[in-house]
Amino acid sequence: MDRRIEKITLYSCPICGMNSTDRKEIQDHFKKHTIRAEEWVYCRACGAGWSVAAWGPDGAAEHARNCYQKHIDEGNLTETAVRAFFLSGGTAGFPVIRKGGIT
Ligand SMILES: [Zn+2]
Ligand SMILES: [Zn+2]
Repeated sequence: MDRRIEKITLYSCPICGMNSTDRKEIQDHFKKHTIRAEEWVYCRACGAGWSVAAWGPDGAAEHARNCYQKHIDEGNLTETAVRAFFLSGGTAGFPVIRKGGIT
């Protein structure tokens, strides 16, 4: 055995980075992290979101609704939604299906 060097296995918490050579210690520590759930209300046209924690459920919904309405008022709802849809890879906005294909 080489007494000059030592090999160890370091276990680390993927959330906060705390580490230890004691696997169980880190496993127990990791379990103590609480999962955070955040509610957001999104404008389905452009994908802008408002946090319920910050604005309250009504406030967040109103902001999102106003944002959606803004696109209608500006006459660019379809444009905005389609652009957001493609830019976000489908997580925001929506595709617009035109009957008879693209004209
Ligand atoms: Zn941790
Ligand atoms: Zn919007």
